[in-house]
Amino acid sequence: MKINRNYLSLKENYLFADISRKVAEYMTSNPDATLIRLGIGDVTLPLCPAVTEAMKDAVDEMGIGESFRGYGPYEGYDFLREALCESYKQKGVSLEADEVFVSDGAKCDVSNILDILAGDNVVLIPDPVYPVYLDTNIMDGRTIRFCDATTRNGFLPLPDSAVRADIIYLCSPNNPTGAVYTRRQLAQWVDYAREQEALILFDAAYEAFIQDPSLPRSIYEIPGAQSCAVEIGSFSKTAGFTGTRCGWCVVPRDLTREGVRLHQLWMRRQSTKFNGVSYIVQRGAAAVFTEKGRRQIHENIDMYMGNAKIIAQTMREKGITYFGGDNSPYIWLQCPEGMTSWQYFDVLLETAGIVGTPGSGFGGNGEGFFRLTAFGSRVNTVEAMDRFKNLLSC
Ligand code: PLP
Repeated sequence: MKINRNYLSLKENYLFADISRKVAEYMTSNPDATLIRLGIGDVTLPLCPAVTEAMKDAVDEMGIGESFRGYGPYEGYDFLREALCESYKQKGVSLEADEVFVSDGAKCDVSNILDILAGDNVVLIPDPVYPVYLDTNIMDGRTIRFCDATTRNGFLPLPDSAVRADIIYLCSPNNPTGAVYTRRQLAQWVDYAREQEALILFDAAYEAFIQDPSLPRSIYEIPGAQSCAVEIGSFSKTAGFTGTRCGWCVVPRDLTREGVRLHQLWMRRQSTKFNGVSYIVQRGAAAVFTEKGRRQIHENIDMYMGNAKIIAQTMREKGITYFGGDNSPYIWLQCPEGMTSWQYFDVLLETAGIVGTPGSGFGGNGEGFFRLTAFGSRVNTVEAMDRFKNLLSC
């Protein structure tokens, strides 16, 4: 028996495991400290009533013989796939329900989709970005190229026709930088992918946080994208499903490579390796698209975006260069001159009790930057920013 030695090429620890270890060590030596966690991108508001009511009703259905359901469809119940299609329609995107696959979250989809793509494809990954794209491709031993996201391009790298790629990851709004591609910029990626016969994996986990109506919330708002892009979405941040688990993956029927529909391969993959998301969770997810659900999740998103404004305002008052926060729940700020992002992590933890995320954990270009999230409670965000304002040197 041989192990998958690609795993030995991974960095030893996942970023958030390192943060947890450091925080635990700090708490052991400072048991009375009150920490404010603006680090890991988990939400703090509970599921909204429309969602929990729908889930409770679904629980009741499951307890009655006539309405009990066993295994559901691998690809998700029609009621949720249709609700998702309807929400795409409101963005001007026309999809068939069978092009939408319900899943247990975007992290699984961005990783599992690689099952249907050959191991010798060349992968293009923005640097910095959500670390899962890199790690899952290292696990498969693919050749990886990076496109640099820096202050020079506003953390929105554009395609370079001299660089060949087969699989391209795009994340907009971006984790960690908060940057959002415009339509024109996304159109350049779509043109590039079509020219190269590449595949874009578009991670739209934060689309619901876009406030500016001129910015695209789906790659399918760009003509031609249905022939070169898979889009992955999530209820995690939009509706507080981080612990409940539900997302979706769109594989358009027009998307073919080597004469084969990716849709057919994905359906085969899911039906073999996945047994679907629970009926109760899918009922809760569908409730997000009811009038009541929409209103309630928007109240939550508005609360988080209010936090983002408070953080951004503090950065401006302190004269700190930052990105994001307008159309995303992340504020990406520059560390003080000469300080690495882990050094800044230590300073904020030890002098202010604020836990953020060091930019270097998202890629080499993240060095010297730091991510704060708007997903804290309002009270904690205000308190964290008060502490931040009182910091002398940063
Ligand atoms: N994609 C991005 C860009 C993320 O930042 C995250 C979570 O932080 C995910 C996907 C994971 O989402 P999910 O909870 O749906 O697995």
